[in-house]
Amino acid sequence: MKIENNKVVGIEYTLKDKDGGVVDTNAGSGEPLYFIQGLGTIVPGLERAMNGKALGESFDVTVKAADGYGEFDANRKRRIPKSALNGMEVQVGQMLQASGPEGASVVTVSDVTETEIEIDGNHPMAGKDLFFSIKVTEIRDATEEEISHGHAHGPDGHHHH
Ligand code: ZN
Repeated sequence: MKIENNKVVGIEYTLKDKDGGVVDTNAGSGEPLYFIQGLGTIVPGLERAMNGKALGESFDVTVKAADGYGEFDANRKRRIPKSALNGMEVQVGQMLQASGPEGASVVTVSDVTETEIEIDGNHPMAGKDLFFSIKVTEIRDATEEEISHGHAHGPDGHHHH
């Protein structure tokens, strides 16, 4: 069986940046990442690379920023006065839940001064090329229920929403 749309796929992955630093990995954890191919739940460049791969196959793929977490958008940074924080102390690198016109989102504190802070709404990997090492650990047909939910269910059907 090969990977195509509406297959449940399990992978071990390691994501590195251009300097070879490990950003994220589940290799060796015994807990594969499961997704349904074709639903856009993983970054587009990686999903494209998964097409046609076979069970047990290992491969490396470089995903350009535009096909990964998107280009860096300077307009997604903004400065807000510290007085708006109601006394909350924040540090550079801290993640905050922010509410805006498009709903709730996670932002990263990118600067702190005496009077204001800067928050950055870009994904931490925005603007960066992604270097994935992938091993395909499972391929099976998705059930109709899984496709309608948009995610893979566990072996016993139990899952959390
Ligand atoms: Zn579900």
